[in-house]
Amino acid sequence: MVAHPCQLACLYLFLIIVASLLPIPLIQLLSMAESSSSGTPSRYESQKRRDWNTFGQFLSNQRPSMAVSECNSSHVVDFMRYLDQFGKTKVHLEGCIFYGQPEPPAPCACPLRQAWGSLDALIGRLRAAYEENGGSPETNPFASGSIRSYLRDVKESQAKARGIPSKKNKK
Ligand SMILES: [Zn+2]
Repeated sequence: MVAHPCQLACLYLFLIIVASLLPIPLIQLLSMAESSSSGTPSRYESQKRRDWNTFGQFLSNQRPSMAVSECNSSHVVDFMRYLDQFGKTKVHLEGCIFYGQPEPPAPCACPLRQAWGSLDALIGRLRAAYEENGGSPETNPFASGSIRSYLRDVKESQAKARGIPSKKNKK
């Protein structure tokens, strides 16, 4: 079945509105939509491959360099911290006058970070890639409890810093 162009336009408009309400980059929502609506190799698959290569590169740049089979959950946390420098989400520090404000009226010097939603999606892709590349589910560092608790902390601190009530995501 081929979607009518108007329907596609509506879908994209809807996604743009949803994206403005969520801490997830628009591009990610679009790729999720595509991977669920078509059976062809999706942006999700190519994003997963890119993430996997980036993680392997990160490990090989460690001193001493490391293979994926040698890494554990603390290296995964290091990887997420490393990615923060490329983040685009303003997360106010507790001392900032805009701390807790979802839409601050002026710029401030607080750092940009990876949004929780991006990290959560990234870890999901890497967890799948690890097992697709021969890793055992029992030793999957992306599935460990310490990763889940790190992500929970990031989610809570970002929600507080930007003034989003933590109940908002529950239904
Ligand atoms: Zn700030």
